[in-house]
Amino acid sequence: MSKALFLSDSYLKESPATVVSVKDQKYVTLDQTIFYPKGGGQPHDTGKIIRDNEVFNVVYVGKFSGEISHEVDRPSLQPGDKIHCVLNWERRYKLMRSHTAAHVLAALLNKGTGALITGNQLEEDHVRFDFNLEKFDRPLLEENLAKANELFGTDVPVKWYELPREEAMKIPGVVKMADAFPPELPTLRIVEIVGVDKQADGGTHVRNLREIGKVELIKTENKGKNNRRIYFKLN
Ligand SMILES: [Zn+2]
Repeated sequence: MSKALFLSDSYLKESPATVVSVKDQKYVTLDQTIFYPKGGGQPHDTGKIIRDNEVFNVVYVGKFSGEISHEVDRPSLQPGDKIHCVLNWERRYKLMRSHTAAHVLAALLNKGTGALITGNQLEEDHVRFDFNLEKFDRPLLEENLAKANELFGTDVPVKWYELPREEAMKIPGVVKMADAFPPELPTLRIVEIVGVDKQADGGTHVRNLREIGKVELIKTENKGKNNRRIYFKLN
């Protein structure tokens, strides 16, 4: 199984790897990878696989039966090939900033109202979030986004680490997705925004809230009790 390097170091932009398998000429698995596969509301990475002077664009990354598969745009990679991976860092870094920003907003809303997340989708240019709020309250959403922006102007470290499942599940609010349970694994990965939030999460995050900059409300929508929706974007 390929080692998911992004779980321990989300700032790795390049890395060597060896091709393990190739299916249908274009689905490639590696011994280790910096490419994040689509999942948990975070889109997949894109970038390049380089073999000597040849470039293979990575157009999609998914996780299938626990294995990370990289779809490349042309054939000829072979098992055993020594390659070099390069991320589209601009895209990934925006997704990291958005992802951490989303955790902060969810933590603030959850703390203030008990609301849970019922849907979320990060995109390169915006974030969409649904909460199960009893009342649709645009000022409340705006207020929490303003509070989040205040935090983004301060030095708040973000850390990630593994905890035994039993210990992790004792953290209040460690799961903020409605109807979601963390995988049945002996350990869970926790993303901690120091003093703000602890969340079971497999995504990639920035190391300090200052890196987010500011976020801006795009719009809110009322899709019913379980889907009070907010769109925001990085500035
Ligand atoms: Zn997350």
